[in-house]
Amino acid sequence: MRTFHIKLKGTPRESIIVCRKNVLSKALPELLPRLKAGGAIVFTDSNVYALYQRQIDALTLPVFVMPAGEEHKDQTTLFALLQAMAEANLRRTSTLIALGGGVVGDVGGLAASLYMRGISCIQVPTTLLAQVDSSVGGKTAIDFCGVKNLIGAFHQPSLVLADPTFFGTLPPREIRCGLGEIVKHGALNAALFDKLSAQDDLSDLDFLASVVPENIRIKAEIVQKDPNERGLRRCLNLGHTTGHAIELAEKTLSHGECVLLGLLYESRIAERHLDADVGYLQALSALIKRVLADPKTDAASHARLALLDKKNTAKDKVTLAVPVKRGEFALLELGFREYEEELKEIGQTL
Ligand code: ADP
Ligand code: ZN
Repeated sequence: MRTFHIKLKGTPRESIIVCRKNVLSKALPELLPRLKAGGAIVFTDSNVYALYQRQIDALTLPVFVMPAGEEHKDQTTLFALLQAMAEANLRRTSTLIALGGGVVGDVGGLAASLYMRGISCIQVPTTLLAQVDSSVGGKTAIDFCGVKNLIGAFHQPSLVLADPTFFGTLPPREIRCGLGEIVKHGALNAALFDKLSAQDDLSDLDFLASVVPENIRIKAEIVQKDPNERGLRRCLNLGHTTGHAIELAEKTLSHGECVLLGLLYESRIAERHLDADVGYLQALSALIKRVLADPKTDAASHARLALLDKKNTAKDKVTLAVPVKRGEFALLELGFREYEEELKEIGQTL
């Protein structure tokens, strides 16, 4: 069991993140007397409920189940959940338990931040991606008017329970998706990079269980040092500018796969523009290619979509956070034409 205490500047309370096994059969039942005294609801999605119904029902708390899928991360689901919370007579002292992947965490966190101007939220992330990424930092949101995460709030969970037993039911694609952010963290942390490079089977569940706490610690340290995304936290955007452009265009690829593709392109850009450690960047590319079986995409044809990135500071310029040396990143600004040209040339060599 590993425990992390996170306190973000400007937020009233600290968040506790606990990495431990068998959360549904041990940690949550242990908390039940307190949860029942204050009032609580379990919020999950239809896939997770189908897989874990017996253990969820055994908690004997009210349960609200949303249909699975990012397309339901919207106001209809949010207000249906808020209604279920009201019907369960939740009070200021009550707790929402968000049990699921990033979608459940986002909608559940937002509902907890709105209900009675904010009640306590326990996040139980059930995907690899949600454990290493969205469970740290307190961001919550729904998609609105066709824009991802347009309506949201910062709401730190009081407790995050990260349990690797949930990985046992994840499809391989979801594992690959989580590995996208894990490799990104590896590009920011030399010790993690070495561990990933030395591991034969990156999808091995015991291996993943062993690296989750390290990933949480890496992200938590960055977020605590820069809660407002002014400086250091921009490193978490590594691979994401090109990755988001690919993700917007190629709907069949997951977020993590797009981040890895973005990272592949952006490390080559770093090689060509900065005083970078070429040997290291090649080792990083080799690691990425081990996760992505087929690293082919025509990124150049999606380059224009990178101009939409909120992190850009000037019109017709693209700002990239790129890896340069072991554990080091740099910010690089390129004119749009040059960026598009680079993607075209790099694409031919992949
Ligand atoms: P993320 O953004 O964390 O990848 P999503 O909420 O989009 O998460 O979940 C991805 C998919 O995986 C959804 O269909 C969800 O229902 C499903 N899912 C979540 N947790 C598990 C699990 N432990 N086992 C199997 N499927 C899961
Ligand atoms: Zn990401």
